[in-house]
Amino acid sequence: MDLKIGELRAIVTAGASGIGLAIAKALVEEGARVHLCDIDPDALATARAALPTVSTSVCDVSDRAAVTSLFDDALTSLGGLDCLVNNAGVAGPTGRVDAIDPEAWDQTLAVNITGQFNCARLAVSHLAKSPNASIINLSSAAGRLGFGLRSPYAASKWAVVGFTKSLSIELAELGIRVNAILPGAVEGDRQNRVLAAKAVERHLTLDVMKREALERASIKEFITPQQLSDAILFLASPRSRTTSGQAISICGDLQSLT
Ligand code: NAD
Repeated sequence: MDLKIGELRAIVTAGASGIGLAIAKALVEEGARVHLCDIDPDALATARAALPTVSTSVCDVSDRAAVTSLFDDALTSLGGLDCLVNNAGVAGPTGRVDAIDPEAWDQTLAVNITGQFNCARLAVSHLAKSPNASIINLSSAAGRLGFGLRSPYAASKWAVVGFTKSLSIELAELGIRVNAILPGAVEGDRQNRVLAAKAVERHLTLDVMKREALERASIKEFITPQQLSDAILFLASPRSRTTSGQAISICGDLQSLT
C-alpha cells in the first residue's frame, strides 16, 4: 500500500530511544522528514548517527520554554508541519496511593499529559496549513483499564484519551485529525524496568511477572515497536483521512493489567 507520506514533515517527542525511535525510523523509511526531541542528549546523538536525515532538539516536554525552542528548531528545519507524535511518557512511581510521593505524581502528569498539551498547542497553527495534518498521542492499555499500584500512570494515560477525543472535535474544522494509540506490554528496556519494579513491590520474580503480564492478553505476545509504528504510519497518512477521535488499542486484546 502506498501511504503517500514521502513528503510528510513530523515531530516525534522522546524519539531518541524506545518506541519513539522506532516510529522515527519507520517514518524516515517512508521518506518522511523527522525532527526528534528528547531529554537525553547522548541518546539523541546516537539516534542522529543511526538516522542521519533527522534533526534534533534537547527538550523536556514538561518544560514550556524548552517546548517553544523545540518548535522553533523543528519549524526552521522542516519548513512546516504535517504530523505531531506526542510519544513522550514516563512510567512514574510504583506503589499504593498513600505511599506515592506527591512530587512523583506531579512529575508523571507533567510529562505524560501536560507535555502533550505543551506540544499540541504550538502545533495547531502549523498543522492547520497542511493538507494532511494529524496529531497522534501515545496513551496505554492503562488509559482504558485500572492499574493497581500505578495510579499516576493510569490517571495520566486516561487523561490522554480525553485530551485526544476533545481535540479531535475542536480541530476537525482545521482539517487536523487527532488519534491515540493504546499499547499493551511492548518489548524493550522500559517494559523490563516496569515489571522489575512491580516484581519487587509484589515480592515475585521477574519471570513470574512477565508470565502474568501475558496471561491477561488473548494474544500472548509482547507487542513490538514495529507494530505500533505500522499503525502510526497509517494514522499519519491521507489513507486515514476520516479516522479521528479514536483510541486504538494495540495490546493483544489485554483484559486487565498487573
Ligand atoms: P522509554 O522509557 O523507553 O523512553 C523513551 C525516551 O523518552 C527516552 O529516550 C527518554 O530519554 C525520553 N524521555 C523521558 N522523559 C522525557 C521528557 N520529559 N521529555 C522528552 N523526552 C523524554 O519509553 P517507551 O517505552 O519508548 O514509551 C514511549 C511511549 O509509549 C510513552 O508515552 C509510554 O507511556 C507509552 N507506552 C509504552 C509501553 C511500553 O511497554 N514500553 C506501553 C504502553 C505505552
